[in-house]
Amino acid sequence: MQYHSTRGESPAASFSQALLAGLAPDGGPYIPAGWPRFEPADFPPGATLAQVARQLIAPFAAGDILAPAMAEITADACNFPAPLVAVDGAGYSVLELFHGPTAAFKDFGARFLAASLTRLRATAAKPLEILVATSGDTGGAVAAAFHRRPGIRVAVLYPRGLVSPAQEQQLTCWGDNVRSFAVRGSFDDCQRLVKAAFMDPALRATRDLSSANSINLGRLLPQAAYHAATALAVWRREGRPASFVIPSGNLGNALACVWARHVGLPIGEIVLAHNANRTVPDFLSGLPWQPRRSIATLASAMDVGDPSNMERLRALYPGLPALQSAVTAEVVDDAAIRERIAADYAAYGRIWCPHTAIAAEVMARMPEARRRSAAWVIAATAHPAKFREIVEPLIGRAVPTPDSLARLYELPVAKEDLAPQLEALRGALLGAIPAARVQP
Ligand SMILES: *Cc1c(COP(=O)(O)O)cnc(C)c1O
Repeated sequence: MQYHSTRGESPAASFSQALLAGLAPDGGPYIPAGWPRFEPADFPPGATLAQVARQLIAPFAAGDILAPAMAEITADACNFPAPLVAVDGAGYSVLELFHGPTAAFKDFGARFLAASLTRLRATAAKPLEILVATSGDTGGAVAAAFHRRPGIRVAVLYPRGLVSPAQEQQLTCWGDNVRSFAVRGSFDDCQRLVKAAFMDPALRATRDLSSANSINLGRLLPQAAYHAATALAVWRREGRPASFVIPSGNLGNALACVWARHVGLPIGEIVLAHNANRTVPDFLSGLPWQPRRSIATLASAMDVGDPSNMERLRALYPGLPALQSAVTAEVVDDAAIRERIAADYAAYGRIWCPHTAIAAEVMARMPEARRRSAAWVIAATAHPAKFREIVEPLIGRAVPTPDSLARLYELPVAKEDLAPQLEALRGALLGAIPAARVQP
């Protein structure tokens, strides 16, 4: 399988070239040159998530140097479950994507990419340095996935004092090949530093740089796999397609679901559940495409004003009518998030994270007839314990900490203080200027 840029100004890339590059040289994300076609009967009944992932992803890696390792890579990425749990009395089910090492769905994609890049870099002369700017969630998933992978180093940059204590723990508890930099600045400063590092001749001379960011093809494919496995389970049980409500920011999770439907999995409607960042819902309602600055909300991992996967969605559905029949979108504000967390805990005993609460709110607003017309599934994108400061006052009790997070909370942390300048980052990475080591 070959990959093209959505912008059409770059040469075709192989699967592994697309994973290594992240973005095409013209700045566009990679999309497959063709699509495989599946039927539900192609997947053996009772196939595990890892087996579905292997079968679904195989044609996307066909002919690539990674193809022979794909069984191991998918098993490594999907080594924790994604259970589909009925919400009793609510008339829908929840796909729990938070049973991985950092308790959010990004663990699947980060682990797939880490397993792939480790194999691709096994014989490289220079180390691969992964630079991640994070406002909280992504950095932890990437650090966890790449921790102790040979031939790869990770630098996580986050805004000092602007992430929650739980998030900071997950960004700073790794050590070994992972370094954590508390940048004296904003998330935008972190992103600017990473961009500048990619252009820096001194850094580029000594190492290969990569971003592992969420636009990477390797982050999307395993996400398509859990939507596929869920749709197959619903299909076998109920004989009808599953429809999904997906808390969305950069549209990576939702696009993966769209791709799964596009290759033939029995998926009905796909609803993009957005917070107050309404770039996509506005566009789907017929307004011009207008990327904007992100607005801070309670569902912070979805605070995206210019979702980069929109290019991939529009490549698949050029023209507004096609797009409008492929997906719909809803907007949920912070007040409604708060109310939904309290209401659903009272009604069903379920505790949602603020992102998942947006999908639950979309279900609550849905007219009864529409709700009954399909097997609805909401994606639970993170465990509520990651956002206990928000959730606990709303439900009036403590959120139990899952074992995965409890393990991370016991690890010692180490972070390095960093000035928001390229010289400081360069010095720290090249070892010329040791950054101040901070031990709390
Ligand atoms: C990243 C994230 C989202 C948004 O997913 P996209 O793929 O960017 O649309 C939603 N919820 C949580 C908890 C996340 O970490």
